[in-house]
Amino acid sequence: AGWISPGGLNHLCDLLQVPPAEAYGVATFYELFRTEDPGDTRSVHHVCLDTACRVQGAKDLALRLEAEGRRVHRGPCLGQCERAPAQFVQGVGGEPDHVPAETADALAPDSYRLPQHGSPDLRILHRVGVVDPTSLVSYREHGGYQMLAHAIEVGTDRVIEEISAAELSGRGGAAFPTGVKWRAVADEPGPRKHVIANADESEPGTFKDRVVMAHDPFAVVEALTIAGLTVGAEEGWIYIRGEYPLATDRLVGAIEQARTAGLLGADVMGSGRRFDIEVRRGAGAYICGEETALMESIEGRRGEPRNKPPFPTTHGLFGQPTAVNNPETLLNVLDVLDRGSEAYAAVGSDRSNGHRLFCVAGHVARPGLYEVPFGERLGDVIELAGGPTGELRAVLLGGAAGSFVGPDQLDLEMSLEATRAAGVSLGSGVITLFDTSVDFDDLVVRIAEFFRSESCGQCVPCRVGTVRQHEVLVEMTDRGTLTHDRRSLIDDMAVAMADASICGLGHTAAGAVRSAIRLGLIGGAR
Ligand code: SF4
Repeated sequence: AGWISPGGLNHLCDLLQVPPAEAYGVATFYELFRTEDPGDTRSVHHVCLDTACRVQGAKDLALRLEAEGRRVHRGPCLGQCERAPAQFVQGVGGEPDHVPAETADALAPDSYRLPQHGSPDLRILHRVGVVDPTSLVSYREHGGYQMLAHAIEVGTDRVIEEISAAELSGRGGAAFPTGVKWRAVADEPGPRKHVIANADESEPGTFKDRVVMAHDPFAVVEALTIAGLTVGAEEGWIYIRGEYPLATDRLVGAIEQARTAGLLGADVMGSGRRFDIEVRRGAGAYICGEETALMESIEGRRGEPRNKPPFPTTHGLFGQPTAVNNPETLLNVLDVLDRGSEAYAAVGSDRSNGHRLFCVAGHVARPGLYEVPFGERLGDVIELAGGPTGELRAVLLGGAAGSFVGPDQLDLEMSLEATRAAGVSLGSGVITLFDTSVDFDDLVVRIAEFFRSESCGQCVPCRVGTVRQHEVLVEMTDRGTLTHDRRSLIDDMAVAMADASICGLGHTAAGAVRSAIRLGLIGGAR
């Protein structure tokens, strides 16, 4: 039908015995659900308004589509930052009536070429663009499923010991030690536990997991299977954002082939252990990248984060012990098992082991996904991507939830400890470059608008703070200046949000704004 009509919603509520108000709350929570009759429209063009797209023609793209008579929805990041400006065409009640010509190329199995394609230094991305992502045979020909066999052979305790000895940090914002998380879930009594691949990457500027899932999907499935067997879970979930249809198709295909080959199901690889994976699609909500909001979403509710404690390791999905990792972290598990913890830990900086993926976009010569050891200089990563295309004014590190740094900070070491010491964050590995042509007032107002619209609204500091922050910045653009009073107000609200919000969205909503003020990027200070 292409939309959730009042009659349809009531009918479902009757069938499922769910209060209509609750179901309506879910239907209106997600960006990709419609509760208005689309009429004759057969496609909606979601145009990204965020960081990289914003400075690379997103507004013009939206206007052009409107001039062509298309229905346009201006919305948040679509995770296609290396090919900005991006649009996501959503069919209404069937296939879309218009698909941009360039899309067909991107769908071919062998179409993706990493900028570092063929480099012998790749440890995480070495199969991307090499292995046929639609073929289990191809994956196995390139060493696929050897690590699952190894994990079954050495046993769960040994796998956790290796991951712990490697000091594998989670590749999300929190960088939580993976071995500690897996041990905590493994030590919980059964019978039901879960592992989840958090593939809801929605941080503006982030696209790494999209590349991994679309072009190396069997590796994600293999690593999640290892996670499940290791912690004692029989149920695995991949929660993937709805804006990633290609990656979703590839993962579903990989799971089906793995199941047929006995690599999932009642007797995984002849181990006598049961494990299977279900894919759940998000429907457009940044907050569902927060692990407890993601669980709420899988359980069929609005994606509103839970208070912690209790933590997911004891009370996760359906109230049962759960380990959540993103695809980049899971692929590192394969690398740890392949090389051994000692060799893995020998690469990187003092306290950040292994390789890290960086999503380099914006005003840079070769935007794309790059893999380097932890500890490289920011300037070196940018040079790897061909350097800035204009006079560099600022770099956004860590996405909208991160911070701007200036051209004088290109010596910054890309490690957890060095960025923490510098008061910034690696976050999800975002490096977005902006040259001197950028209207930073406009960009930062959009970042504030993003948080205003993505706040789930359940706690007051974030719900009110993100609105007031946006209002103050809109006022700044009207006046052409940010007064001392207004700057103090932003600082006060940032402290309240950081101190009293339930989840990371509220904690980080003011970070990029305040760093832009500090660097003199906004408020007429340029
Ligand atoms: Fe929701 Fe914001 Fe509170 Fe997080 S901090 S729970 S996003 S209102």
